[in-house]
Amino acid sequence: SYGFSNLEAIPLDPHYALKEAFADDPSAKKVILGSGIYRDGNSEPWVLPSIEERKAEKEVDEHKSSARYEYLPISGYAPFVTVARDLLFGRYGAKADHFVSLQTISGTGANSLGAQFLSKSLRPSAVWLSNPSWVNHSNIWGLVGVKVKYYPYWDAQKKTLDFDSMVKKLETETVSGDVILLHACAHNPTGVDPTKEQWAKIADICESRGLFPFFDSAYQGFASGDLDEDAWALRHFVSRGTLELVAAQSFSKNMGLYGERVGALHLLTSSPEAAAKAKGHLCQLQRGQISQPPRRGAHLATAILTNQVLFQKWLIDLHEMSSRIKSMRQALYEELVSLGTPGKWEHIISQIGMFSYTGLSSVQVETIQSESHVYILKSGRISVPGCEFSFEGVNAANVKHVAK
Ligand code: PLP
Repeated sequence: SYGFSNLEAIPLDPHYALKEAFADDPSAKKVILGSGIYRDGNSEPWVLPSIEERKAEKEVDEHKSSARYEYLPISGYAPFVTVARDLLFGRYGAKADHFVSLQTISGTGANSLGAQFLSKSLRPSAVWLSNPSWVNHSNIWGLVGVKVKYYPYWDAQKKTLDFDSMVKKLETETVSGDVILLHACAHNPTGVDPTKEQWAKIADICESRGLFPFFDSAYQGFASGDLDEDAWALRHFVSRGTLELVAAQSFSKNMGLYGERVGALHLLTSSPEAAAKAKGHLCQLQRGQISQPPRRGAHLATAILTNQVLFQKWLIDLHEMSSRIKSMRQALYEELVSLGTPGKWEHIISQIGMFSYTGLSSVQVETIQSESHVYILKSGRISVPGCEFSFEGVNAANVKHVAK
């Protein structure tokens, strides 16, 4: 036979499978703690006030321009990629002509473009992902035909980072030219980041083993609430002056621009000549895939990053989001303790960013789902601020039910 009937069946991504099960549940008590999407105190989507203001402003000026639907260049909106790069790398981190930056279809597009480029230019024997990592990392690297290997990360017993095992693996099993994927901050799914000393050690290993660092930055400003603090690890690598590296940058979460798909890929090279050549390759890949990235979200983000008044308002918005997550962590933790829940739950408050790796087993998660209508990924990861539709995420009204 011929045609698509021969295709191998591919299971639905676990997030989407969970959403479907949730949608089918008629219970009025149901709560889903699945996707990495911020929700406000009423479990509603939150348009950042700084973004809202810019939209209003656009109605007045740029919206009138007949050029508003024109194509952008292949590499994207130039003012955007420059300010996005500066936000991530800091203004004086490295020479501007050593960088190549392209606007991408958000963080996913940046990860994907970076993976394609490195698979062809570096021909790594493997990419090393943390175990566990964002589910799409292995998908993206698998699609470009690079072997995916894992370095230990999460210590399930201690519910913390297993740094010794991570170092041991990287120091003994990696091959020069391999890519190592690092979460710039607010590790997804565990919510556990290395300390500064540990980051320095990881940079040492990259130097000594000839590993190529690929930073994925999807939560800058969202983890600690401080943009510079959340970029510390990446900037430390840059400050060494010895490493070329790539960074995938997303504005989905920190600007709440999920569906606008705003992001960038930044490549730091060792010379302006290398940067110019790499730019040609990256533009060719981009041309073949999307020709040009979209305009609107890049304009919005640029306005926030260049207008001092809007920028200050954005900092307040970031603070609001990170504080609400922290207070929901605290509330959940306190409820768990006051219920006398067996086990230790300090990790709920010590983990950072949107996610908490609860340590619940897949059997426990299934039981909670069928008996109490609380939907959690099989890995035990919860998104603290929540998910789609009406009863999502931990909020003041449902925290007792979720904890119970
Ligand atoms: N990288 C990580 C670690 C993520 O958690 C996410 C989103 O959940 C992304 C990248 C990409 O998100 P987006 O494509 O919406 O920017």
